[in-house]
Amino acid sequence: MTSDQSWKEKYLQELESAEQRQKHWEAEKNTLQRMLVRTSLASEGQAAELDRLLNELRKDLRKDSLDLAKWRTLQDQIDRQIALLDDPAAVPPAAVSTPVSSPLSSPLSTAPPQPAAIAGDDNDLGNNQQRLRIARRVGQLLGQLLQQVTLEPGAEAEARQLQQSLLKSEDWGELREGLNRVAELVIAAVTRGQRDFEAFLKRLDERLQSLRQHFQDQSSAQAGRLDASVELDREIQQELAQIGHQVQSSHDLTGLKQSVTRHLQSIGGAVRRFREQESEREKNLSHQLEAMQEKLAAVEANSEKMQERIREERARALIDLLTQLPNREAWQERLAFEYNRWQRYRHPLTIAVLDIDLFKRVNDSYGHKAGDRVLQLVARELRERLRNTDFIARFGGEEFVLLLPETPCAAAQGVLNELRGHIAELPFHFRGEPVTVTFSAGVAEFGDGDTEDTVFDRADRALYAAKDGGRNQVRLAADGG
Ligand code: GH3
Ligand code: MG
Ligand code: MG
Repeated sequence: MTSDQSWKEKYLQELESAEQRQKHWEAEKNTLQRMLVRTSLASEGQAAELDRLLNELRKDLRKDSLDLAKWRTLQDQIDRQIALLDDPAAVPPAAVSTPVSSPLSSPLSTAPPQPAAIAGDDNDLGNNQQRLRIARRVGQLLGQLLQQVTLEPGAEAEARQLQQSLLKSEDWGELREGLNRVAELVIAAVTRGQRDFEAFLKRLDERLQSLRQHFQDQSSAQAGRLDASVELDREIQQELAQIGHQVQSSHDLTGLKQSVTRHLQSIGGAVRRFREQESEREKNLSHQLEAMQEKLAAVEANSEKMQERIREERARALIDLLTQLPNREAWQERLAFEYNRWQRYRHPLTIAVLDIDLFKRVNDSYGHKAGDRVLQLVARELRERLRNTDFIARFGGEEFVLLLPETPCAAAQGVLNELRGHIAELPFHFRGEPVTVTFSAGVAEFGDGDTEDTVFDRADRALYAAKDGGRNQVRLAADGG
C-alpha cells in the first residue's frame, strides 16, 4: 500500500508538533510565573516575615520544576501571615512602607478624593489604605493574568468576580480571602495547561496505537492471502494430476469426458472460492482504512485546535496590555531579526530609546490612572506617526524603543525630533489644568563590530546625555561600540 509512507510522515509530523507544543506550554508557564512574581512583589512591605515568605516563593519559582507540596506549605504560612495582618500589634513592620495617594479617586475627574470610611487611629487608617492599595494592584494584575491565560469557564467567572471585589470592596476580610484565591487561581492555571497537554498526548498515543494495529492487521491479511493462493495452487495441481492419471489409465472415452468435466468444475469452484475470499479481504481492508482515516482526521482537527490556541496565547504574550504596543519580548525577537538582516545586507539600521520626561510627576500630581492614560496616548501617537517598516515597542515603564530599518542615524534623529515636537504639543488636560508631556531620546546606528547589546547601550547612554542636557531633546550616540 502506498499510504504506508504517508502514515509514517504524519506520525513524524505529529511528534514534531507535539515537541513544539511542549515549548509553547513552557512559555505560557513562564508568563504565569512572572505574573505570580509581580503579584507577590505587589504584596510586599507589610510584614518582615511575609516578605521573607514571598521572597522564598519567588526563589522557588526560579527553579525548573515546581514542588507543589512545598508550595501548599508555603501558601499556608503566607495565609497565616496575612491573617496576622489583621492584628497589627502582632506583626513587626516591614522595612519599606510608602504612603500613597488614594487610588480610588479617578484622576481625570474633578470629584474630591474619598476618605476611607474606616474607624480607628491614624495607624489603622494608614494600614487599611495600604492594604486596599495592594488589593487594587492585585486586582489589576489579576485582570492582566486573565487576558493572558485561558481558565476553565467556571474558574474564569469566579476570577472576574474576584477581580471586581479586589478593585471595589473595602471589606478587608473579603479582600484577604480574595488575595488567597488569586494564588490558587495562578496554580490552577499552570496545572490546567499541563493537564490539557498531557490529555492531548494521551489521545495522540491511543490513535497511534490503533495505527500500529492497522498495520499489523494488514500484514496478517497479506499472509492470509499467500496461504489462500498456495491452497488454490495445490488444489489445481491435484485436480490436474488426477486428470493426467485418468487420461493414462482410461479406455472409456465417455467416462473420461465426464471425469475431465468434473475435475474442471472442481477447479472452477476453487477459483471462485478464492475470488470470494479475496473480495471479502479487500472489503475488510477498505473498512479498516476508512476507520483509520476518520481517526486521523480527528487527530488533525484536535491538533489544529491546539495550535490555534497556542497561536492566540503567543500573540497575547507579545503585546503590552496597557498600550497595546509590542512588548519587550516582541522587541527582542524583532531586534534579533533585523540584526541578522543587517549583518547580511549591511543596509543602515538605527535604534532609538525614548523615555518620558519627569513622568513620576504626572503620577504624583494626578494619580496612576492619569499616568496610564498618558502612556496609552503617547503610544498611540507614536505608532500612528511611524512608517510601516519602523517598529515600536514598550520596553517597560515609561520607556519605548524604536527600530528604524533603512535609516541612517542622522535621518532617524530627524524623525525622532518630529515625534518629539508633536508629543510636546499634545493638549493633555488633567483636572482642568493643561499639562505638557515631553520625552527625551537617544539614537544609535549599527556599525562594524556591533551587537544588539552594544548598540542598545550606546542609545541608552545618549538618552541619559539628553536627560542631563535638560530633557525634551534627542541625542545621537557617539560612534563605535
Ligand atoms: P526622567 O525625566 O528622569 O525620566 O524622570 P521620570 O520621573 O520620568 O523617571 P523615573 O524613572 O524617576 O520615574 C518613572 C516613573 O514611571 C516611576 C513609575 O512609577 C512610573 N511608571 C512606570 N510604569 C508605569 C505604568 O505602567 N503606569 C504608570 N502610571 N506609571 C508608571
Ligand atoms: Mg525611565
Ligand atoms: Mg522618565
